[in-house]
Amino acid sequence: MSENHNTLEAIKAFFEISIEKQEIAFIYIGYAGILLRVPKGTLAFDLGKSLSKEAAEAIPCLDLLFFTHTHWDHYHAPNANRILKTTSSHIIAEPQVAEDLSSRIPHEYLITANPASPVTLKGYEVIPVVGVHPRPITLFHVTHKTTSIFHGGDSGYVPIKNQSVDVAFLPVGAPSPSCTPKTALQFSQDLIPKVAVAMHGNSKQMKQFKELVNEALPGVRVIIPELFTPTRVNLEPEQ
Ligand SMILES: [Zn+2]
Repeated sequence: MSENHNTLEAIKAFFEISIEKQEIAFIYIGYAGILLRVPKGTLAFDLGKSLSKEAAEAIPCLDLLFFTHTHWDHYHAPNANRILKTTSSHIIAEPQVAEDLSSRIPHEYLITANPASPVTLKGYEVIPVVGVHPRPITLFHVTHKTTSIFHGGDSGYVPIKNQSVDVAFLPVGAPSPSCTPKTALQFSQDLIPKVAVAMHGNSKQMKQFKELVNEALPGVRVIIPELFTPTRVNLEPEQ
């Protein structure tokens, strides 16, 4: 079976999962790419160039698509266009990404992320956060009903105070010069997520992050995701 076939099967299986209250499910597509389902909602972050054309077109529905910055592993205009055509998703993008998209997609679907103005849309509350990276980068704190999420792009640490979350997707390293297992731990210490998902790093860095969190924050569960594997997470405390 080709890799692409497996990818398409994974996306299909992912959208067939029924999400209960207190649950989320996600697929890790590599780098900082995340497809995420919450009860009665679907969102995605940084579906960059590594997502194949067929996989982008296989996404059947999406409420919001977020882009943190212009690097190719996070943002790919053709994929944004494909996903928008099938799903009518709104796109919330870091300003440079939004500028690039402004001539490519209908403007009513595009929102420029502005940390000074949180966005409320389709039942989601979105707080953009300025991150640190060689290029301008915007991180996202998103709340939908009772579920709250943080996505850290591939940013280095910036303080995030008074914003605890259920699930934090945290970059731990390669190929970003900005993040390390240590900076991901710092984010975890601010956010105290129920679940921290390691992303944007090699397996050694992901393991290191898990060890650091286990040591410093024993109440926080860490998931090291497998590529293109639908992963269902119960957010109720483990027995
Ligand atoms: Zn980058």
